[in-house]
Amino acid sequence: MIPVTENPVDEIERLKADNRKLRYLLARQHDSVKHMIYGDDGELQCSVCWIDFRRDPVVEIERKLYEAGMRELQRMVDAGEWPVVSSKTSA
Ligand SMILES: [Zn+2]
Repeated sequence: MIPVTENPVDEIERLKADNRKLRYLLARQHDSVKHMIYGDDGELQCSVCWIDFRRDPVVEIERKLYEAGMRELQRMVDAGEWPVVSSKTSA
């Protein structure tokens, strides 16, 4: 028999609190010069990727992050920053 370590209601509350915390941490991780997070009034939104870290379903956040990564890769290709040519560093 599986030991019951906590009340199911308490576990759900703990998971909800973890969910909020992880979304916050993910938004902080995403925050950068290019992806400034709007954080007033407890909001966590990236105006570049249109990610709402508080409300978007996780699968939607995943999709938007992937698309942002692909846009950045395309930008680097267009700018000649990728792929990196190693011979440039050996002078
Ligand atoms: Zn972003």
